[in-house]
Amino acid sequence: MTKLRLAIVGAGPAGIYAADILLKSEKSFDVSIDLFEQLPAPYGLVRYGVAPDHPRIKGIVTALREVLDRGDIRLFGNVRYGVDVTLEDLKAHYNAVIFSTGAIKDADLDVPGVDLEGSHGAADFVSWFDGHPDVPRTWPLEAQSVAVIGNGNVALDVSRILAKHADDLLPTEIPANVHEGLKASPVTDVHVFGRRGPAQVKFTPLELRELGELRDVDMIVHDEDFDHDEASRTAIATNKQVFVIDKVLNQWRQREVGQASRRLHLHFYANPVEIVGDEAGRVAAFRYERTRPDGQGGVEGTGEIREVAVQAVYRAVGYFGSPLDGLPFDEKRGVLPNHEGQVLDDEGQVVPGIYATGWIKRGPVGLIGHTKSDAMETVRHVLNDQGNWWLPADPSEEGVDAMLRERGVEYTDLTGWHRLDLHEQALGEPEGRARVKVVPRDEMVRVSREQVPQQA
Ligand SMILES: Cc1cc2nc3c(=O)[nH]c(=O)nc-3n(C[C@H](O)[C@H](O)[C@H](O)COP(=O)(O)OP(=O)(O)OC[C@H]3O[C@@H](n4cnc5c(N)ncnc54)[C@H](O)[C@@H]3O)c2cc1C
Repeated sequence: MTKLRLAIVGAGPAGIYAADILLKSEKSFDVSIDLFEQLPAPYGLVRYGVAPDHPRIKGIVTALREVLDRGDIRLFGNVRYGVDVTLEDLKAHYNAVIFSTGAIKDADLDVPGVDLEGSHGAADFVSWFDGHPDVPRTWPLEAQSVAVIGNGNVALDVSRILAKHADDLLPTEIPANVHEGLKASPVTDVHVFGRRGPAQVKFTPLELRELGELRDVDMIVHDEDFDHDEASRTAIATNKQVFVIDKVLNQWRQREVGQASRRLHLHFYANPVEIVGDEAGRVAAFRYERTRPDGQGGVEGTGEIREVAVQAVYRAVGYFGSPLDGLPFDEKRGVLPNHEGQVLDDEGQVVPGIYATGWIKRGPVGLIGHTKSDAMETVRHVLNDQGNWWLPADPSEEGVDAMLRERGVEYTDLTGWHRLDLHEQALGEPEGRARVKVVPRDEMVRVSREQVPQQA
């Protein structure tokens, strides 16, 4: 019987769903899947993006874990495509590869002052508070007033984590260094800026409502932002999500404020103009142009410039994918150019054997659930393209282990991940927490590979 030897690069939800769908789909051949992941832990942005105080979403790992635990997928953790394995290696060992490498970088924001000290990308901050091993362990939390640019859920996550009292995060899986950092933060005011009006935000209602439930944090909204034009009124009347958002914001307009020690300000119709620096090159203010509705659901500038004094700016204007060695890349959209998951070359022709799914296929928008439908589409092509699969020189499973060992790659496997998972849960136990994340990569690898130093 023919056997499909498939490599999947990236063990986030997209890669894991693709493996699951492929294994469950009807086919006339056997399948064996190897999942390569640059980190020693799987689950991508579910572990390293979704905020720690969203345990229900973090709980999606239970479903992803069930897929991995079924026993027919091999996990190679701590193996980076482009460094530890190349496209040529994959061609030598597999019939095809699906790339599901997601997006981890911040999209650019083109305003003066973006490189000042105290101007941060939201993705970096998220990686820090979610304990990503590849970012520094300390974060400069010295600002009393902070600007967060963006009107999507990531802007809300960043604002909430900044404004929330650190001890209220203790029941979550935040790493110890993150709790310590946030605890020492002198922040009192977090200002969130969006270019458009309250009827055009990209927040989801649940995430917005959550802000209003933060202990000792006042929600500040401004009446001037609620003079809706016809397009906004129509959006509120016809779109349930916009209707709920409007309702939540209007409730906040009625609330008594002034008692809380921290404030979260929502500024709409605010187009970034400049991040203003002081003589020492540090962020001193955020300057924006007031916009107004243009009558068609968009906005136009009014020429009125305003400024808010802040000592830090977080740019939450979207994520962006990274190019992958030896593969075409769409520099504009930050994705692998593709047609329904079949990767295309510079001439728009299908590249045999190479597929994409998830954020690296579609761009960094959409929820975890969307990666499932994405994976279905991609997998359908993998199955239908049997005539175009690669013919590897060494399709054996042992060949891959041997290659990695020969190169001295300290790869981790599924058993190792279970070991690390249990270790993190054990770290949380004395404090009554579900887990405490291990952050340094070498420690993750050590625990996974059972090279744990004896406790003193
Ligand atoms: C801050 C934030 C909060 C979010 N909150 C929610 C939420 O509450 N609810 C929700 O439904 N969705 C949420 N999302 C969206 C969700 O995380 C994404 O839809 C989903 O993770 C995309 O899946 P993916 O597998 O394509 O990418 P990812 O989850 O990014 O997974 C990609 C994987 O590929 C690996 N990888 C990358 N490059 C390489 C390489 N060269 N070699 C080997 N491995 C590699 C990465 O380490 C990673 O593990 C959030 C996203 C962000 C950024």
